[in-house]
Amino acid sequence: MSTAVRPPVPAVEDETLLSDTDVLIVGTGFSGLAVGTRLARQGRHSFALVDRASSVGGTWRDNTYPGAACDIPSHLYSFSFRPSASWSHVYGRQPQILDYLEQTAREEGLLPHTFLDAEMLDATWDEQAQRWDVRTSRGRHLATTLVTACGHLSDPAIPDLEGLDTFAGEIFHSARWNHDVDLAGKRIGVVGTGASAIQIVPELAEVAGSLTVFQRSAPYIVPRKDRPYSEAEKAMFGRLPETARQLRESLFWDSEARFPQRLGVPAFLDQMKKAALDHLTAQVADPDLRDRLTPSYELGCKRILLSNTYYPALTRSHVHLETSGIARVTETGVVARDGSEIALDVLVVATGFEATDLPFAYRVRGRDGRLLSEHWAEGGRTVASTSVAGFPNLFVMQGPSTGLGAGSIVYIIESQASYIGGAVDFVADNGAPIEPTPQAEDAYVADLDARSEGTVWLSEGCSSWYRHPVSGRLSALWPDYMSRYRAENGTFDAEPYAVGAPVPDLAATGG
Ligand code: NAP
Repeated sequence: MSTAVRPPVPAVEDETLLSDTDVLIVGTGFSGLAVGTRLARQGRHSFALVDRASSVGGTWRDNTYPGAACDIPSHLYSFSFRPSASWSHVYGRQPQILDYLEQTAREEGLLPHTFLDAEMLDATWDEQAQRWDVRTSRGRHLATTLVTACGHLSDPAIPDLEGLDTFAGEIFHSARWNHDVDLAGKRIGVVGTGASAIQIVPELAEVAGSLTVFQRSAPYIVPRKDRPYSEAEKAMFGRLPETARQLRESLFWDSEARFPQRLGVPAFLDQMKKAALDHLTAQVADPDLRDRLTPSYELGCKRILLSNTYYPALTRSHVHLETSGIARVTETGVVARDGSEIALDVLVVATGFEATDLPFAYRVRGRDGRLLSEHWAEGGRTVASTSVAGFPNLFVMQGPSTGLGAGSIVYIIESQASYIGGAVDFVADNGAPIEPTPQAEDAYVADLDARSEGTVWLSEGCSSWYRHPVSGRLSALWPDYMSRYRAENGTFDAEPYAVGAPVPDLAATGG
């Protein structure tokens, strides 16, 4: 995807002031809702949420592809402060997760604070007024503190394939599924073999006339130990919440116990690699297909995927795995690098997201008009993976150095929300904006870079979106245990910050 040139920001026609609050939160996925809930529960009601879509839910609203489900157990992939006894399966399905988020927004009283169909067009730190001035497609918002909760898996990455725009059939990205297209009996192509694609392919194999999967690199896949929860179990989780809490705890520490794989510890790596390769052997009998499905890089470099149905789908007679690469897309299909021509009616691009060069950063200007994208030109730079030097009272949810190779991102999100809750209190108590010092930011970045050394993500032959394309730094991921993230970054600490000039008495009125 060419990310160097960003589309121009549309002109704002409506300058109506829609809110003037202590905090403005951009995005209503897990992150935005976590921050809103945190503020509301600590009694700070002067905040507004904006979202470019017509409903809340973030990535779980956008990803409606067939088979969409979570690959982290739901009793862990949910807010600890909003446990649900009713997860239908170990791994929640997209509709249930979206319901959970909508219910959170409703029951935590966030909807009256929320402006939908309001895309952030630009956000500028107003030095004189000491506040953020944010323009959206619906109007203007002022706020002392800005929280970007835009996510890093929200803007589809469209592959830079020759001829892609000439394809005359139906084409859509996995995160923008076109449910109007009737797929029955169609010749379908899927580009990509990541976490989204491996959930989509078995579903499409059920309905397609023919299905071609375009693989650039083979993923490691291990068995998915899913099952429905029985009514008795759900009743137990409801009546005895302690049982659900204990389940969460044990799921959490199971996840933590997998982290040494990412540190490249041979015993842990070998164990998981054997599980993945045994799974492949058990499910694919054809040696040639098995060979092409065997990854050529270190385990853990890219996300380890879970599926019991992906390999069997690839063994079906009408499903074809294309591994020579895509030479070009034509009006009628795809020409592979080995010269074969694959005629297609539908092309699904399951090619991931703009996760390293974050699009919202092109719309946020800090002191002296500096763009966040300029500051991050060689990879994300932060303090506590949340605040940025030169950007007063800005807190970034799920930006650089927050992603996980193993574990529940909701745990990190809650830690960040707690940190931001403390920062908002600090700003209010001091009546002055804060920003981390450049020295603190340098030290944080150097520390994370040092921790990244020796991990599988930087191992030889490993390339992924976790690494920044310009610097090669592991800028998307937190390179350590989840528990360490919370211990180090889950509580606001003013030490790395400079406290600025007092905030003038703005007529904050609440959202
Ligand atoms: P992804 O992991 O980035 O995978 C994209 C796939 O597209 C990769 O196989 C990639 O190949 C391929 N690709 C990209 N550009 C290509 C090109 N120009 N030509 C050919 N192939 C190309 O994206 P994703 O599957 O949407 O998953 C993204 C993230 O979303 C995951 O890491 C995960 O965090 C999250 N997710 C989670 C779940 C869940 O169950 N919780 C489900 C779906 C997604 P290479 O590997 O060779 O780059």
